Amino acid sequence: MIAFEYRTPKSLKEVYADLREFGTDAKLIAGGTALVIMMKQRLVRPSCLISLRAVRGLNNIAQKDGGLKIGGLATHREVEISSLVRRRTALLAETYRHVATIRVRNMATVGGGLAHADPNQDPPPTLIALGATVKASSADGSRVIPIEEFFTDYYETVLKPEEIITEIYVPKLPAGSGGAFLKFLPRTADDYATVSAAAVVTLDRSKKTFADVRIALGSVGTTPIRAREAEAVLRGQPVKPEALREAAEKAKAAVDPISDFRGSSAYKKEMAGVFVRRALEKAVAGLTARKAKAKTSRPAPRRRRR
Ligand SMILES: Cc1cc2nc3c(=O)[nH]c(=O)nc-3n(C[C@H](O)[C@H](O)[C@H](O)COP(=O)(O)OP(=O)(O)OC[C@H]3O[C@@H](n4cnc5c(N)ncnc54)[C@H](O)[C@@H]3O)c2cc1C
Repeated sequence: MIAFEYRTPKSLKEVYADLREFGTDAKLIAGGTALVIMMKQRLVRPSCLISLRAVRGLNNIAQKDGGLKIGGLATHREVEISSLVRRRTALLAETYRHVATIRVRNMATVGGGLAHADPNQDPPPTLIALGATVKASSADGSRVIPIEEFFTDYYETVLKPEEIITEIYVPKLPAGSGGAFLKFLPRTADDYATVSAAAVVTLDRSKKTFADVRIALGSVGTTPIRAREAEAVLRGQPVKPEALREAAEKAKAAVDPISDFRGSSAYKKEMAGVFVRRALEKAVAGLTARKAKAKTSRPAPRRRRR
């Protein structure tokens, strides 16, 4: 690697000062799992690395307005095992559990992953399906970006060089909601997805009609993709297998994967449809099973003693 300076600021104020000093020659480093590889490959050559690891309070996970706020420096593993995340939005913990190996998840951070913006990553489809937002902070203040507007191209985002991801926010889902994330891994268990799909569905009170649906996919384009036309097919419609199949067809039409060693474009397109359908089925099954369980676990009426 080429020589570089290494800064370890203790507060965001100090990070902003370092960023101002080095400008676009500097790179933030969090877990380093993506950046160090890129530096070794000489794809990036920063003259200064600004480590976020000593900045206090940037890895907090807490409740906010009924939803969850997760600090940009929280590791994938912290999200995966957080009892708060598991209780509130198990789908999120489950999705982060799918990333690579425990060794990678122990280092990789939520903010680092999003800023890296590899379209093959697992968390973005789930975060899009959950309607999450990203908080980007700089010396000039903060702005909140809906996550589906965050990614612009391969490894590209709307982040400005002076901005830091300080938080993501995952809103509370309405009652009657559930979700699923599926990662198609035909090669090895710790690989990137060949195709991934996340679905969050909200059923009406009878559990027979879709009140709302959000669907997103990974590894099928230059960015993670929200399948809006597939969602529209289901909204307000009865929960029926043919509706799920129609939505899967729309999702298939929305994606444009590249051919690579994980599969041809045509194969990935086909799998996008299959995995969207399965994710929807799993999300619905989770909700209807919950209803059935609630029914059967109701205490039996007491018998009168004679
Ligand atoms: C072997 C291996 C397997 C992997 N497999 C998977 C997988 O299966 N699924 C998956 O989803 N991912 C996978 N990953 C990718 C992994 O998720 C990313 O490498 C990781 O999320 C990057 O996070 P980091 O904290 O290490 O970022 P870093 O490497 O520290 O930084 C990455 C980029 O983000 C910038 N950055 C870091 N933090 C911030 C911040 N807070 N604000 C703004 N910019 C910031 C850096 O400047 C850099 O450009 C794998 C990685 C490895 C090494």
